Amino acid sequence: MPVLKKARALIARPSVTPEDAGCLDLIASWLTPLGFRIERMDAGGVSNLWARRGTGGKVICFAGHTDVVPPGPLEQWTSPPFEPAVRDGYLYGRGAADMKSSIAACIVAIERLVTHRPAGAVPQGDAASHNSLALLLTSDEEGDAVDGTVRVVETLKARQEAIDFCIVGEPTCVKRLGDMMKNGRRGSLSASLTVRGVQGHVAYPHLAKNPVHLAAPALAELAATTWDAGNEYFPPTGFQISNAHAGTGAGNVVPGSFEIIFNFRFSPTSTVEGLQSRVHALLDRHQIEYDIRWTLGARPFLTPRGDLCAALTDAIAAEAGIATELSTTGGTSDGRFIADICPQLVEFGPINASIHKVDERIAVADLEPLARIYQHTFDRLMSS
Ligand SMILES: [Zn+2]
Repeated sequence: MPVLKKARALIARPSVTPEDAGCLDLIASWLTPLGFRIERMDAGGVSNLWARRGTGGKVICFAGHTDVVPPGPLEQWTSPPFEPAVRDGYLYGRGAADMKSSIAACIVAIERLVTHRPAGAVPQGDAASHNSLALLLTSDEEGDAVDGTVRVVETLKARQEAIDFCIVGEPTCVKRLGDMMKNGRRGSLSASLTVRGVQGHVAYPHLAKNPVHLAAPALAELAATTWDAGNEYFPPTGFQISNAHAGTGAGNVVPGSFEIIFNFRFSPTSTVEGLQSRVHALLDRHQIEYDIRWTLGARPFLTPRGDLCAALTDAIAAEAGIATELSTTGGTSDGRFIADICPQLVEFGPINASIHKVDERIAVADLEPLARIYQHTFDRLMSS
């Protein structure tokens, strides 16, 4: 069970963001004998690794993170989070599903591809040796994601090193290994809106200007607006107010200002500029005095059906016997940074039901199939 062994070795290292706890050194020690050139691109206390085997051709990359979220209340764990344990067919430990088992599976897949290439899987000679394999790993995915993947991407971009295909090993499956991959992610655009009024006594409203009353109809309209209809791959853009605050706490004071934080999860059918100008137009129409501060968390990306989707879909069908669903649901991931230098990027990894929870786990029976899915996908792309 080589995947299980490697997954256990990684889980045993308590790499809570941004700590790497020696995971990347261990991974480097696995990759070096396979012919990878290892580059550490650590920045701002974050550990980053770029490893590449081969110098030319297409670059086929696996991306992921060694960091994990904090375990939470230790007494609620059946076994300690950083002492990997197998019980009832599951491997338990923080990072078992998100995403140390994916990294272990990827490395075993590459070991087999490189050293025990199954007969007929990859044509020997030029086509196979021409393309490159690469890994992009960071210890800062679950945190601010400021000095992690984005720094490696900047460095690669500066030296004009592109990635042709990338699999991000995030846990994407829902009920069964292979049932879902993500071929895109929605964008995230936040705004902090301050509506200005005039503070006063509630008994003398003619001497005050209530910003809550002024903003309420506009907020209702924002919440009821259809921003777009989505497309074949994306649900419609969503708008949600996450925070609203006004008032001094006293019951007899009209507040002087009203602060609202809202967020768009948007499909590529809408643009950042388009959403912003529609919000401004709506607020202006309601004749509100306001300040607004926008923060773009992530731009959306989409990988249409192509070589990568086809290779992965076929590998899943061969191994798990199911047709995988292409989805763009869920939160953001580091895929958004890599998509900047990579035209074909998908996320695929194990079942995500237990991620970030107490007693995080992965079915032991899914470990070897996951490695074989990665292996067959790499295999096919290597010979493309
Ligand atoms: Zn993750």
